[in-house]
Amino acid sequence: HIYLHYGENGIDDIALPPLGPDNFESINTDAVANIDINIEDAWKTYSETENKRTVTVAIIDTGIDTTHSDLKDSIWVNEDEIPGDSIDNDGNGYVDDVNGWNFVSNSNEICTGEEDSHGTHGAGTIAAAWNNGGIAGITDSTHVKLMVLKALGGSEGKGSPESVIEAIKYAEANGADICNLSFGSSNCTPEFEAAIRDSKMLFVVAAGNGNQYQIGYDIDKSPVYPASLPYDNVITVGNLLFNGHLDESSNYGATSVDLAAPGTYILSTIPGDSYAYMSGTSMAAPMVTGAAALIYSARTDLSLQDIKTAILSTVHKLAPLKGKTATGGMLDVSAAIKWTKN
Ligand code: CA
Ligand code: CA
Repeated sequence: HIYLHYGENGIDDIALPPLGPDNFESINTDAVANIDINIEDAWKTYSETENKRTVTVAIIDTGIDTTHSDLKDSIWVNEDEIPGDSIDNDGNGYVDDVNGWNFVSNSNEICTGEEDSHGTHGAGTIAAAWNNGGIAGITDSTHVKLMVLKALGGSEGKGSPESVIEAIKYAEANGADICNLSFGSSNCTPEFEAAIRDSKMLFVVAAGNGNQYQIGYDIDKSPVYPASLPYDNVITVGNLLFNGHLDESSNYGATSVDLAAPGTYILSTIPGDSYAYMSGTSMAAPMVTGAAALIYSARTDLSLQDIKTAILSTVHKLAPLKGKTATGGMLDVSAAIKWTKN
């Protein structure tokens, strides 16, 4: 199985990574000035850009509450599919797949309730509406749409590599550009590697939240997949605490982990029109996914490969990240959106 990046690290399972610290009362919340992703300046640049392209972001995770008032206008719609007629109108092999697909139950039911908090939270970070109260996502939901691909579920957030591979193939076949993967496994099959390696999408992957004691480790030495995959179309993200250090629970790796982004004590959407704080690299990866989508939308002169280069070459360097990440820095969306291609 594959696990979401909360819960224990599976031996032969893919899973959501264990969520990071959940006893927020014990966290020292002394933020340090300038430890932020520089989003307001990036939004200014974005708003001054006239020509924007539409970007589709696939979220392979739990399901997403597509009825959430902060998300309902951000959800990808399969225009070639007629809802509810029990016919596969677009002939893509999936019946009534209007917003995505549930690869766990093999159905078009993409929100099943509380177990979909993890995916709903990431979705909000990426693309919650800007001007309706609640929270603001990194990207503008006018130009960025979220494709909902539920491949993990249950109380532990488990899934199978086969479901994830099928979701990756669905995403690409149905027009996704960028794909968020906030899960991991200590095992990897050749088929799973190939699905990522051979995809034209840009993948943004969570580094994982440490061992059973939630202490981060070096994933160059003890690989976690897909975070440790060395491909050009993968960006791996560690969890930066608001003091400019990696969160203690965040995995690291001078080769495998590209950069860090805020992931601890992140407020975002959860099912039932609600909001909650969550922590972990699963929350850090969507920050970079959202940034990639925002920049790809505004910078129609850039390829997805350029987007990766833009993000990694403009990081805000921080001493504690040196030797723990390939770039030695944290996400700087403003610098990345202004990046000049040589
Ligand atoms: Ca269909
Ligand atoms: Ca239909």
